[in-house]
Amino acid sequence: MNLQENHSSRPLTVCVYCGSRPGHDPAHAALAREVGHWIGAHGAQLVYGGGHHGLMGAVADAALAAGARVIGVIPEALVEMEAAHRGCTELHVVANMHQRKQMMAEHADVFLALPGGIGTFEELFEVWTWRQLGYHDKPIGLLNAGGYYDSLLTFLDSSVQAGFMGQWQMELLRVSDSASELLPALLKAARPDAPDRLEQI
Ligand code: AMP
Repeated sequence: MNLQENHSSRPLTVCVYCGSRPGHDPAHAALAREVGHWIGAHGAQLVYGGGHHGLMGAVADAALAAGARVIGVIPEALVEMEAAHRGCTELHVVANMHQRKQMMAEHADVFLALPGGIGTFEELFEVWTWRQLGYHDKPIGLLNAGGYYDSLLTFLDSSVQAGFMGQWQMELLRVSDSASELLPALLKAARPDAPDRLEQI
């Protein structure tokens, strides 16, 4: 099954936010490769920050190896620092971080955050706040494999309890510890006519 051929002139695009570092646990890179492979194996397309380091490089390499189109978007100032990935199908070198985030968001059908650091947090929170304000209606997923985000989720729940967030805002974020469960759920939410077989491949 190929989502591009069956459902649109353009493949469904997964925007992945993740660490520019690999983290200490090799399971994080394995997860990034699983996500990249899933995207390619389902005929979807990846848009990401265009770097070749850490989990960012792992997800892009795996997506390319699985046949996906990969769109990297990197600010000029980070081309050296984050080792711009020259193997991307499209590599956009943009003037600044705002342009990067805007271009990534425009390409995306869904957003998915993997483990990462402050850059990942900022990107996730930005698309989440945009969603709750109605600037877009694209599904947002948080891949909490290995419990990496457990303490953040606990804190967010405490914010709901304290009256600074509504439960409905929490529900805008789909959280799962499984890439193979979360990715089809996000893509189904983005494009309800996607085939049921999506889950099975
Ligand atoms: P990190 O999770 O900190 O390893 O960063 C992941 C990615 O987020 C990297 O490509 C960073 O360049 C990017 N990043 C860092 N700061 C920001 C920011 N303020 N807005 C958007 N992306 C950022």
